[in-house]
Amino acid sequence: LSTWSAVPAGPPDPILGEFHHISTDANVLPRAEAVEPMTWLLNTLLGSLRIGVTEAFKADKDSRKINLGVGAYRDENGKPYVLNAVKKAEEILRTSNPDKEYLPITGLPEFTKAAIKLAYGAESAPLNENSIAVTQSISGTGALRIGGAFLGRFFPSAKTIYIPTPSWGNHTPIFRDSGLEVKQYRYFDKKTVGLDFDGLKEDLKNIPEKSIVLLHACAHNPTGVDPTPEQWKVISNIIKEKQAFPFFDMAYQGFASGDTTRDAFAVRYFVEQGHQVALSQSFAKNMGLYGERVGAFSLVTADPEEKSRVESQLKIVVRPMYSNPPVHGARIASTILNTPELNKEWEGEVKHMADRIISMRERLYNNLVAQGTPGEWGHIKSQIGMFSFTGLTTPQTKTLAEKAHIYMTADGRISMAGLNGHNIDYFSESVSKVVK
Ligand code: PLP
Repeated sequence: LSTWSAVPAGPPDPILGEFHHISTDANVLPRAEAVEPMTWLLNTLLGSLRIGVTEAFKADKDSRKINLGVGAYRDENGKPYVLNAVKKAEEILRTSNPDKEYLPITGLPEFTKAAIKLAYGAESAPLNENSIAVTQSISGTGALRIGGAFLGRFFPSAKTIYIPTPSWGNHTPIFRDSGLEVKQYRYFDKKTVGLDFDGLKEDLKNIPEKSIVLLHACAHNPTGVDPTPEQWKVISNIIKEKQAFPFFDMAYQGFASGDTTRDAFAVRYFVEQGHQVALSQSFAKNMGLYGERVGAFSLVTADPEEKSRVESQLKIVVRPMYSNPPVHGARIASTILNTPELNKEWEGEVKHMADRIISMRERLYNNLVAQGTPGEWGHIKSQIGMFSFTGLTTPQTKTLAEKAHIYMTADGRISMAGLNGHNIDYFSESVSKVVK
């Protein structure tokens, strides 16, 4: 008998290991240990019959096939895109021939310094007072995990985090594994395909005082729906009244509007209002460094002395998890952020990626309207970032896969980056047909 024979298979990942049967929102997935043995067996057997969006796409031989399930940018030809700024940074690194020694536990200092400057802004008071504790992380996921573990250990009140419904599917498992209790607040209104601002306000007003609240800083995943600056101000006030703790997840800075400053509005506004925020940053999307795993976790503290106490505890969180972070991606990001010409080129490329997505939104909207597609499609244009909640139903997404070779998650979420000049007309026609 193997040591691990009693370890149950976890539920399949909605993107990579599942197709058309569950939503992208892993909040609805049962935890492995909470599942009845018979249910687990049934799910395992059924699971083996299902395939993931990506696998189904790969197996499809039709030349018109489109994969809108992946959360990674694609260029005008549907190909992965390595930014010119990244290639140039790698060339600089190659010629400087750096060693491969371990980084410190909290990572490359010139990277983390530049990362928090990008997020909080050069004018940020806590930044200039040296009061922001920061550590490099294994991209955004790792930043959330470090944050969760730190809060699980040190947050002085009930260790409950409120996340929006829906949220990125990995939020619940990350925070549960960090030892936090995960609860939800309303966010998305299916009827308007927009923000349920009344529901959000009511829920946040009803949470216990001194709770933790997770906020998507920009380009909310999976809905593409963000609060307006005015709505952020109201949210900031409620969080202040509840003495709640805001934890920002910023996985798309620059990717939402094409402007890194504009996309940092919520984080910077909250800090200006005196909130001591926690922040998770990812350079996966905005630098296209997905597999390099570059990110940062930071906390605004009261002063440099508190900052150094907090940082020493962050080290204690990180050390038993992975000792120290990978060096190559952090060097790339650091070279880009700290070299003025490269930084300028990068900002231009972020804008180019965001603009291409925005132009696809326009074209999709115009096509759907021109084709007399029943329904209201304004949300396609108003939503922000990589993803769009189309409002397509699960049966419609199934038909699109089977009849039109178009793959998306069962909740009707599409990655706008998967659309381009070659496939947008075919996609619009297919959607129009399935809705009619
Ligand atoms: N947070 C959100 C909202 C995301 O959408 C993602 C990626 O899709 C992440 C965090 C983390 O991504 P990564 O770990 O690749 O940086």
